[in-house]
Amino acid sequence: MKLSYDEIVQMLRDRPERTRTYEVESGVIERLPSDTPACLRPMDEDEVQELADYLRVAPSLLHGPFHVVDHTCSSCARTTTFLDFVKTAVDARLHSRDTLRSVLTDDEAAWVTVRGQDGGRPVVCANCGNTLLGALKCGGGEYSEYSSGTYAYA
Ligand SMILES: [Zn+2]
Repeated sequence: MKLSYDEIVQMLRDRPERTRTYEVESGVIERLPSDTPACLRPMDEDEVQELADYLRVAPSLLHGPFHVVDHTCSSCARTTTFLDFVKTAVDARLHSRDTLRSVLTDDEAAWVTVRGQDGGRPVVCANCGNTLLGALKCGGGEYSEYSSGTYAYA
């Protein structure tokens, strides 16, 4: 069952206990970041290429636009991108690289991960392995910490 925008927004206001990923109706993701774009920045071409290389796919097949929370690793000064989140999930064996490639290249479906009251998943810097902490959160309300055309973490 696909969730509507209103259902997702309701969950962001009254977060479920556990962090979970939901399939959503088309158009939901486009509306999420526009509420608070200030903390998100668009990824540049080189960053999308780096993500594509990691997923072993042509960058043109990835459904952008890619947005990510504006953050720099305090340990190695790497600029955080979508790749850090993807690599963290793969390394933690939460998802396979194939699954994530499918999600980010899917023509039909879209997903939103809603951070639960468990605080969500820690993110690890793809370069140095430093754990990126609370600085990744943009602040209350409706927001997305990173998103693409087919996926958002909110
Ligand atoms: Zn780092």
